[in-house]
Amino acid sequence: MRHASAQAGRERILWTRSRDLARRAQDVHDVRAAGRLLWQEGLIDDVLLAGGRPWCTGLAIAREALAGVWPEGDLALSVTGLGITPLLLAGNGTAPVEEARRAKALWAFALTEPNAGSDPAGMEAAAVRDGPGFRIDGEKRFISLAGDALFLTVFARLSAAEKPSAFLVRREQDGVRTQLRENLGDHPVYAVQLDGAHAEAMVGDAGRGLALAYGTLALFRPSVGAQGIGIGREALRLSLARARERRQFGRPIGEFGEVQGLLVESYLRLLAARAVVRQAAQLLDQGAPAAELSSAAKLLGTEAGFQAADAAVAVFGGAGVLEGSPALRLFALSRAPRLYEGANELQRHLIARWLLRQDDPFEEGRHD
Ligand SMILES: Cc1cc2nc3c(=O)[nH]c(=O)nc-3n(C[C@H](O)[C@H](O)[C@H](O)COP(=O)(O)OP(=O)(O)OC[C@H]3O[C@@H](n4cnc5c(N)ncnc54)[C@H](O)[C@@H]3O)c2cc1C
Repeated sequence: MRHASAQAGRERILWTRSRDLARRAQDVHDVRAAGRLLWQEGLIDDVLLAGGRPWCTGLAIAREALAGVWPEGDLALSVTGLGITPLLLAGNGTAPVEEARRAKALWAFALTEPNAGSDPAGMEAAAVRDGPGFRIDGEKRFISLAGDALFLTVFARLSAAEKPSAFLVRREQDGVRTQLRENLGDHPVYAVQLDGAHAEAMVGDAGRGLALAYGTLALFRPSVGAQGIGIGREALRLSLARARERRQFGRPIGEFGEVQGLLVESYLRLLAARAVVRQAAQLLDQGAPAAELSSAAKLLGTEAGFQAADAAVAVFGGAGVLEGSPALRLFALSRAPRLYEGANELQRHLIARWLLRQDDPFEEGRHD
């Protein structure tokens, strides 16, 4: 009992800290500056490093607080977490993590390639041993923060017959070229060209790269749902204010049943998704695989966020689609999370496979 209330207190404090930071820093749009602030405020340490691996519940709380208000902060926290976590899971990376902490720097996670998106096992990037390190050739794409990070965790094969391994690559070197790709939501994603890029170390054992990548993505999956909820929460907050203030036909538009329907639908979807996100994160923190529940959390949270952002555009009417409209910004932000870290269609496929193995999916203990 005492343990449960201490835990609830820790979670409340994290929520308040993250929310305060998001409000203070919301005009910091430069992702490197965002990363520095997160290190400075101890958020990266508390959420990602303190327990020796990510605290999934803490990550979900922090991301919900940051995502709708200070998306650059959410991005810097989550992507740095994705980059560092393979080293934490492999248990062999304290020196580079210390270096990143001292430099208050970002870290990127370079898995996706032109011919290996939803199925990273098809990757072609090749690594060869070179003295105490390695050289990597290949092309990665859609790599968040790759042009801003101190280190990239890069996945590549030592030979065509071997399973991929993970490598630690310092961005600033001749063998690494990054090119920013503009996109909906202004998410800084880069194409990365590796031409004999020097990797200073292998992360974990040879052939364990995909296990580390999937293990990392599994820990972060509920937090992508939390990101969606954070975006949706902010959209609902804006919609409510607009529904109270904007008058048509002599009345606030919030008195019309159709507008109320949009608000209620947004709220109910966010409420339900949030419960699933927290349940999945707690199970992961307890060491349960919670794979299907994490897929559900990612899917429900990001879909609820997208729906709430779309509803905000509707509630704002024509003003909702104008350049610079906050509703439009949230709408743009809410699309890509449905795509990345396992597209939502893929999550549905995984849930369907799990469902078909169950007699009664709601039976006690089914999610452990
Ligand atoms: C903004 C953004 C940031 C990103 N950041 C990173 C990053 O930091 N690091 C990184 O490595 N990658 C990153 N990605 C890449 C992202 O993870 C991939 O885009 C994603 O995995 C999908 O791969 P793809 O784009 O090649 O689509 P494809 O794999 O070609 O998929 C296309 C469509 O087919 C569907 N599909 C594919 N397989 C299945 C299946 N088995 N069942 C059902 N449907 C399926 C997909 O759901 C999708 O709808 C990012 C992407 C975006 C958009």
